[in-house]
Amino acid sequence: MRILECNTIDIAPTIARLLKIPMVPPAGRPIQVVESYAKERGCKRAVIIVVDSLGYSLYKHLSTLMINLSGIAEKGILFRCKSAATITSPALASIFTGYPPEMHNIYSTSDIYTERAKDSENPRLKSVMEWAYRAGMKASAVIESEGAESFRGRIKDFYGVPNSEDILDYDLKITSYAVRALKEKPDVLAVHLRALDRFSHRAESWKELRKAAKAVDENLGEIYRSAEKGTIFFICGDHAIHGGEKWLKDAEGEAIKNHRENLVALIVACKQEA
Ligand SMILES: [Zn+2]
Repeated sequence: MRILECNTIDIAPTIARLLKIPMVPPAGRPIQVVESYAKERGCKRAVIIVVDSLGYSLYKHLSTLMINLSGIAEKGILFRCKSAATITSPALASIFTGYPPEMHNIYSTSDIYTERAKDSENPRLKSVMEWAYRAGMKASAVIESEGAESFRGRIKDFYGVPNSEDILDYDLKITSYAVRALKEKPDVLAVHLRALDRFSHRAESWKELRKAAKAVDENLGEIYRSAEKGTIFFICGDHAIHGGEKWLKDAEGEAIKNHRENLVALIVACKQEA
């Protein structure tokens, strides 16, 4: 397992490079170590799973608990990845488009429509899933209903789950749609799991936060097992955890620095066994 650095805007262009998706080159750059890693293993499909709030230090802290995720990381590459946004909407847009927030201007779901109204063909608003779909490939997204709706007419297969007070149940629904989507053998699939983020806002103890992390890990395991051999996974946080004062109380210097720099975990791994 190697630890390297990157930026979340590099994820979309890396996937475009690996799967030969024609995409106007965005601000992010293909990650070369991932290119050679994927080439050696013959990866043909890609799955992006955004684990909301999976900061780099948080991942390191929880990795012994998140056994599915750390098992996947051991077979792949772990990155300390800089995120360009500290809240979800712009951070997700950066992961999916390859541009920093000041270039895509998406700070909320409604901004997607506002920005597209100005120029519906603006390449900075197009996700790597949309570029894939336009090239005749199969692209899917499994996210919250309103966000999913913004893919209407942009990709064919999108699954929305309504926001819920019961975020563990919400993530279970996301996971079952993701498993269903994988049966259709998409070239690119994007999934967003939210329990860790919701718990970071509402929970008061590490015990509760660990419960969310464990649930996320089980969902990650289920999605990973459902993918076919040769699928490359990009599992990443969108920003460092919210409520830093609460969670960093007993943190050491490096964890505080990583949090301040908004570093998230990115785990890239190609599934080799069927
Ligand atoms: Zn988030």
